[in-house]
Amino acid sequence: MRVLVVDDDKMYRTLVSSSLSDWGYEVVAVDNGKIALEHLAAEDAPRLVVLDWMMPGLSGTDVCKRLRAQPGPLYTYVLLLTARRRMQEVVEGLDAGADDYLTKPFHPSELRARLRAAQRILDLHHKLFESHRELAHLATHDPLTQLFNRRAILGQLSHEAARAQREKKFLAVLLIDVDHFKEVNDRRGHQAGDLVLCEVASRMSAALRPYDSLGRFGGEEFLVALTADSAADASAIAERLRAAVAVTPLFVVGHEFPLSISVGVATASASGPIETESLVHSADSALYRAKHEGRNRVCTALSNPDPRPVAASS
Ligand SMILES: [Mg+2]
Repeated sequence: MRVLVVDDDKMYRTLVSSSLSDWGYEVVAVDNGKIALEHLAAEDAPRLVVLDWMMPGLSGTDVCKRLRAQPGPLYTYVLLLTARRRMQEVVEGLDAGADDYLTKPFHPSELRARLRAAQRILDLHHKLFESHRELAHLATHDPLTQLFNRRAILGQLSHEAARAQREKKFLAVLLIDVDHFKEVNDRRGHQAGDLVLCEVASRMSAALRPYDSLGRFGGEEFLVALTADSAADASAIAERLRAAVAVTPLFVVGHEFPLSISVGVATASASGPIETESLVHSADSALYRAKHEGRNRVCTALSNPDPRPVAASS
């Protein structure tokens, strides 16, 4: 575990650092609060700080307050080290955001025991953080394809709508259906069906730009939310997806599955408020036409001269 040791006093800095190294900690030692905050703002910042109170410039409590004012996703545990021992000062140090307090001069075994306590707290925080992340992933992702689930992709669509308006771009919804999926499921079983869905998902992911959003909308339906410079650009991306999926059949245990998708595209300009719900509805109507016209194709939603979408009339 990495520990940041902050002390303007060279003797104490060296003493604490060498003790910590002896106990197996990886030590980063600095002599002032400003540099300490820079270290703590780094992406892989140490999570444990042994911090001197009395320092020129930023004091230990100043560092604590600034650290707590901008909490990151991971907790930083602060052990304040100081010669100040009056009760009022202890209270002040803890109120500034320190987690624990040790007065100089201290016994090395007490410092060591307090560091172990710190590590227990940090381990708990880490476990909480990990399970929170896991839960967040489970709540927003489809377990089969690992794409966004229906609720999350609709959330992404709202984000994309806001982005389109900010960047004065077009918002596009691509609604995608895997062709002849029911036949695969009925004739080759659900396992083959699952493999087809995963393969289609992975081919589409690879064909999209990293900042486009792809989710499983339900069953064998997928939804892409993206921003584009024009409606034509959005259709071009849809066509690229279609081609990427159809490029080669999928072989599973001696069986060949020709893969293809039908895509309905609806686009809205950011010139006015964007109704994402009606955009999805328009894409759905276009998808229906793509299916009707023979599958493995892209159909664009019919719209009136106003670039904002209206429900397709077919
Ligand atoms: Mg000092």
